[in-house]
This record gives sequence, structure tokens and C-alpha cells, in this order.
Amino acid sequence: MNPQALNQYHDMSERVSVESIMRWLKEMIAIPSENPMAGQARPGHREKEFGEYYFEQMHQLGMTVGSREAAPGRPNVFGTRTGKGERPSLMLCGHLDTVPTEGYEEPFVPHEKDGRVYGRGSCDMKAGLACYLEVVRLLRDADVGLSGSLILCGVADEEWQMIGSREIGRNGPFADQCIIGEPSDLAVCPAHKGQFGLFIRTFGKAVHSSIPEQGENAIERMARVVNALSDYNEELASREPHPLCGHGTYIPGVIRGGDLASAVPDFCELEIDRRLLPSDAAEDVCKDITRRLEPLKQADPGFRYELSEPSWDIPANDLPVGSPVVQSLLNASRELTGQPEAARSFPGATDAPHLKTPAVVCGPGSLAQAHSLNEFVEVEQCVRATRMYLRAVCDLLI
Ligand SMILES: [Zn+2]
Repeated sequence: MNPQALNQYHDMSERVSVESIMRWLKEMIAIPSENPMAGQARPGHREKEFGEYYFEQMHQLGMTVGSREAAPGRPNVFGTRTGKGERPSLMLCGHLDTVPTEGYEEPFVPHEKDGRVYGRGSCDMKAGLACYLEVVRLLRDADVGLSGSLILCGVADEEWQMIGSREIGRNGPFADQCIIGEPSDLAVCPAHKGQFGLFIRTFGKAVHSSIPEQGENAIERMARVVNALSDYNEELASREPHPLCGHGTYIPGVIRGGDLASAVPDFCELEIDRRLLPSDAAEDVCKDITRRLEPLKQADPGFRYELSEPSWDIPANDLPVGSPVVQSLLNASRELTGQPEAARSFPGATDAPHLKTPAVVCGPGSLAQAHSLNEFVEVEQCVRATRMYLRAVCDLLI
């Protein structure tokens, strides 16, 4: 970092305001932006209103703002603090939606206790979004001119089909590098596995249960499918690991079949979940499954199965550890904690691969609390996250 940028970083770092981060975070938690999941945008699921709120905050901070719908009533919002174009640009991206709140007592009443802020969306990931605004506030108040542009981006629907980030990946904005503030406990995570799912379907012949010998039982056939895949994880563990992500995995996740106990079932389906390494292609997963299931036809000539289109298809993410944005965050983390810090893999799938901007995941809060009925984020982590993002902005954009 050049000496001028370093000075500006230290000056702004001193001025990080807990009050302003907390005000934004609490206002955000109070807007219930629950994802409608399999349904459409509808009353009570106020992701759109939350997008409008974020748009307005960016606007008030002097950013050039825009928005576009990824689907009816599902906006993406973005703001730019334009640089002189002399350095690569940086995007800070986060999702506007939260998971549902069934069984959660007062999910939208933010409260602060013992250095934590509680409420749905607190760590996943309204804290990250609040920290981004604080970075922009600090730049504005210090009147810092940027050589590279800073873009903030709020996307719809991360918690379901990620239509928001897919839309950004088609139509922009794009940047040279990106940080996604998903709750990583501030670990710097340039890689994560992908998530791939599909249905395996077996078929049979329905007859009355009193004459099972005349029918063909689709559930029994599915049992053979489950068995044929039972050592798939051992095969995956024997393959070359990814340096950060380790091995790919497989689970049988959901099974459905039959209508009545008094009838031989003619249909059964199993949804599987396969976590992909950056080197795994979806076609190879289908080939693995087919290779294991084809032999079942020899023992049972009537055995038929089909593989559906993917029910989930989120690629893995794999940004080189040597990338400037990754190195900047690692350096910031070491400086702020005094602890050694190494790049890690993020456990879940994220918007990163859809954005078409190289992205690293690093944000306040823990996945242990995300999606739980007692979600919280530590105030100290919000402050540290703001300083880490600010450091990256000064490193990369001044
Ligand atoms: Zn999230």
C-alpha cells in the first residue's frame, strides 16, 4: 500500500462508528426480508422493501445507484462510488433476503445484549451489508478520491435459487474482484464447494398388495439404488483433494414413494445432494451414478430408472489465494488480531460463482447461528469486518 493510502486507512479506521453500524443493522433486521422460497414475492415477505431501503442508504451516501428486478418484485440494487479508472474495481456484495422464521420468537425485533445483536438476518447477512455502508460513509466523510471504483451490490434470493446473483452475472455490474460478507467468523475464504442435486426415479407395476408377486415394487428397486450408492463417499474420498475444500461428498436427502400400504408402489424418487469440488463437473456426477446403477439391470431385467434435470446447481468457487483481494484481507486480519491467518474454504455454497466477478467470502458472524432460531452477530466482529473491508478498499482502490 502506498504511504498516502496507508495514512488514509489509519485515519478512517480510527473513525469507524459502532453507533452508525448498529443503527443500520437494527433498521435492517426490523424489515422482514424473508425469502418466499418456492413461492412468489408476496405480502409479508418484504425483500423488495429491504432492497429499496438499501438503495436509499447508498443514495444518501452519495453513490450513483441503480436497481433491476431479477423476477417480479425481486429487485437487485447497486451503488457505485466512481474511481478515476486507474486501478481495478472492487465490489462488496451481499444478499438482501433471509431464511424463513417459523418458530422464531420476535425475529424482527433487534436487540443488543452482551456485545451481540440478535434477530433474523443479523449475521446472515445484514451485518455484512451494514459494514459496507459504514465503509462508504467513512470514504465520503474523509472525502477520499478513489483510483478504482467501489461498487456495493445487494442481491435477491440467495437463500433459494440465487436468481439475484445469476441476473447480476448476466447484466452486471461487474468488477475486477469482489468480497461477499457471508458469515465466516471473518475467516478469509477464497474457495467453497458447489452444490448439485437431482432426483433419481425408479418405476414399477402397481397391483393389490395381496398379490405382490404380480407387481413390481419401485420402493424395493430404490432400496437397491441406495445400496449401490452407499460407498460413493469412499470413492470420492479416494480422489485427489482440493487444497482448501478437501473432498466432495454425497448424501441421499429426500425419498418419496407409494400412495397406499395396500398397493405395490409403481414409483419412487430420491433426491440426492452432492457437494462438488471446483474440479468436478455436473456431467461427471451423472456418469458416476449411471456407472453404479446400470449393473442393477442385470439382476432385475424390469429395472428402470431416470435421472432428473438438476434440482440444485451451484458451481464451486475457487479464487487463487494469491489474488490481491485475498491477500489484502489476510493481511488486514493478521494486523487486526495479531494472529496468523490462512485462507480457508467456506462450508456452504454462495452467490460467488454466479456473479462473474472473482469473489472471496469473508464476513462477520458464524454459520453456527445463521438459519438458527437464535441468530446473532458480535458487535466486535462488525467493527473488525468494517476495518478489513476498509483496508481492502485502501489497498486496492486508492
Ligand atoms: Zn447468507
